[in-house]
Amino acid sequence: MADSFGLSIRKMLNVTMNLGASDLGIDLGTANTLVCVPGKGVVLMEPSVVAVRANSNPPIVPLNGRAVGYEAKKMIERTPESIKAIRPLKDGVIADFQITEIMLRYFIRKVQKRSWGVRPRMVVSVPSGITAVEEKAVRNSAVNAGARRVHTVAEPKAGAIGAGIRISEPIGVMVIDIGGGTSEVAVLSLGEVVTLESLPIAGDEMDEAIISYVREMYGLEIGHRTAEAVKISIASAYPLEEEVSYEIRGKDIAAGLPRRLQISSAEIREAIHDPVYKIIDAAKSCLDRTPPELASDLLDTGITLLGGGAMIPGLRELISEETGLTVQVAEDPIKAVARGTAILLEKLDEYEDVLEAD
Ligand code: ADP
Ligand code: MG
Repeated sequence: MADSFGLSIRKMLNVTMNLGASDLGIDLGTANTLVCVPGKGVVLMEPSVVAVRANSNPPIVPLNGRAVGYEAKKMIERTPESIKAIRPLKDGVIADFQITEIMLRYFIRKVQKRSWGVRPRMVVSVPSGITAVEEKAVRNSAVNAGARRVHTVAEPKAGAIGAGIRISEPIGVMVIDIGGGTSEVAVLSLGEVVTLESLPIAGDEMDEAIISYVREMYGLEIGHRTAEAVKISIASAYPLEEEVSYEIRGKDIAAGLPRRLQISSAEIREAIHDPVYKIIDAAKSCLDRTPPELASDLLDTGITLLGGGAMIPGLRELISEETGLTVQVAEDPIKAVARGTAILLEKLDEYEDVLEAD
């Protein structure tokens, strides 16, 4: 009797606790948006893409249910003229507030099926280049999407925390986050970004470079999704022990007909040489602007690579060779920023001064 009573109380408590929606850490990236729940890990990772009708009135109407994320990304370069697939954060600044809000709402709803109960707290990471107005717009969007309290955090801070680096110490650490639209190089100490280089050169630019290379060398026109697939499959920054090849399909520019082509990893390495070296140059100029005491700390702490671009084989070795520092790739680097936002949620008090609140 006493036991079953105890059980019912426990059940009731459980139900009550479940009423409170879980807090959400969100990485609002130029290429991908991730949602991470403390204790559960990353629960959503989808492209930051929204498909909208181009000429309807009102002009912006997401296509029901299939408008955002993966489904929308599939539509890029395959849509009729009446539909546009938009990446609202493409260059690391928010090009379109309304579309960013539609996207954020959609992803939050997707992971937060229950719309009643206690409203969640959210930590949203934003590109460092964002203006105060844009930051306010992100907060408003999160509130409109159901947040009780919203904090924003600069991407390199969240990324460093997610990579397991203790950023609150008076010791210099350096992260390089290579995303889709932007790369951010930052030296952090005492929870603050001390030196920052943010540049609009990252994964997208490598895709563009592959498109140009294939056009110039082979007279073959390929789309962005094909270029990205080639990059993810065979790109490298340093000679591979065994070079590999990949079949590309595109359109022959002269004949106007579809054509296949075998391309080698060595050629793709040559194709992405410029964007890769622009990121390395940014890292060097960030080091150059770093105060000497912090710069010397980096001899111990090294550089940590984050973001999807960190997965390019050989990048670690190349950056290490070019800077003379030890370089490590964060575990599951594409999720590091999202993990950081969830860690910040768990330790809101401890990290109060790292975060921006409304
Ligand atoms: P953002 O934070 O800007 O949204 P992400 O950190 O999600 O960007 O990284 C997205 C970029 O990483 C894209 O350009 C994508 O093509 C690239 N990427 C993803 N996986 C790989 C991989 N295995 N190798 C190389 N690049 C990758
Ligand atoms: Mg990112």
